[in-house]
Amino acid sequence: MSERTHFTLSASEIPTRWYNVAADLPQPPAPPLNPATREPVTPEMMTAIFPENLVEQEMSAERWIDIPEEVRKVYALWRPTPLLRAVRFEKALNTPAHIYYKYEGASPAGSHKPNTAVAQAYYNKIAGVHRLATETGAGQWGASLAMACCLFGMECRVYMVRVSYDAKAYRRMLMQTYGATVYASPSKETEFGRKLLAQDPDCPGSLGIAISEAVEDTVTTPGTKYSLGSVLNHVCLHQTVIGQEAMKQMADAGEDPDVVIGCVGGGSNFAGIAFPYAHRNLTEGTKTRLLAAEPSACPSLTKGEYRYDFGDTAGMTPLLKMNTLGHDFMPASIHAGGLRYHGMSPLVSQLHETGIVEARSYHQTKVFESALLFAQSEGIVPAPESSHAIRAAVEEAEAARETGEKKVILFNLSGHGLLDLPVYDRVLAGDVQDV
Ligand SMILES: *Cc1c(COP(=O)(O)O)cnc(C)c1O
Repeated sequence: MSERTHFTLSASEIPTRWYNVAADLPQPPAPPLNPATREPVTPEMMTAIFPENLVEQEMSAERWIDIPEEVRKVYALWRPTPLLRAVRFEKALNTPAHIYYKYEGASPAGSHKPNTAVAQAYYNKIAGVHRLATETGAGQWGASLAMACCLFGMECRVYMVRVSYDAKAYRRMLMQTYGATVYASPSKETEFGRKLLAQDPDCPGSLGIAISEAVEDTVTTPGTKYSLGSVLNHVCLHQTVIGQEAMKQMADAGEDPDVVIGCVGGGSNFAGIAFPYAHRNLTEGTKTRLLAAEPSACPSLTKGEYRYDFGDTAGMTPLLKMNTLGHDFMPASIHAGGLRYHGMSPLVSQLHETGIVEARSYHQTKVFESALLFAQSEGIVPAPESSHAIRAAVEEAEAARETGEKKVILFNLSGHGLLDLPVYDRVLAGDVQDV
């Protein structure tokens, strides 16, 4: 064994604080607005669906926020996650670049999402909430929140988009295995769902409809709050354990990344790996490139406008200042379901606007070509979402091959694709087109 390729940390090195990039932004973050009055939303309005302690985090300007010991203890079930150098992948690409990846698929639910699910369940629990309601598309968020709720002895109710409920049965089973109650949305559980079913009993559902059902459930059931798996400031905050660990591990590897890459749907896993590097850029003058990788079919950062828009399809949420394709934008059906969101985290959008974050979009045929090469050289089958980050890393590595530059690339492998094998089945059958 010559080179080390696997970099681990001990449990005592799980970060003790989350990093809040809002404290270091060149301009203060643009506040969410009440759509009726166009005045900033008050904390009181938000506590209708979120507990006070999380509303406080959402609006916080503190740079560092302590991670409660109880949350760190649950993190210790799978954190710190490993960082690996992908030497076989480098060889397959014939590149002089060094490629590292942080592996968030090592969590029990298979993605980065438990980093915030566990924190949110904990803060709700200590606020006296005993039941959480949420929506899920492909099921990654639902599975993460279901796991977090069962670890803290809470009830979890998930409204799962009807088409996914039927097509992604394994994730539905995973949620039920963790003790969650899962309904195909639209459901008979809510007024809104019943109304839609009366109009069309075969309604396939959408994320917008599922959000509306989860919010209705929350405001009509005592002891219940709502939980969201991406986009919001406190979600990005919780994910910063990823980048803090990665920085230590890269130092251990004796290298520093020239470019840090993450795929973006709502922006949270990218925020997780990139914000600690943004902190260094903003406070120490380093010039680490931060690259967000998105699908060409849903290009909110590369093609969207930076303006106020609703967070959901139905127009029920406050207005958020963010990169958006319009809240009524219907992205084409692509295999990376977790990246089909019309908007983007306001914090990621603002960093993009100020030039601290760059973005590129990728077509899914190229994305899966790189995903297969990665699986066949490193052994891990990547989630379709994460494969966009892999594609970005491949293009950076190919550029280094052209110039002979000794570039160091770090990307976040946000999840594994073992519950997405039907997608790979279609890829192998040549049944995946660009849209
Ligand atoms: C949900 C998901 C994403 C997209 O969400 P972000 O908030 O942008 O991180 C990316 N990768 C995986 C594996 C996911 O489950």
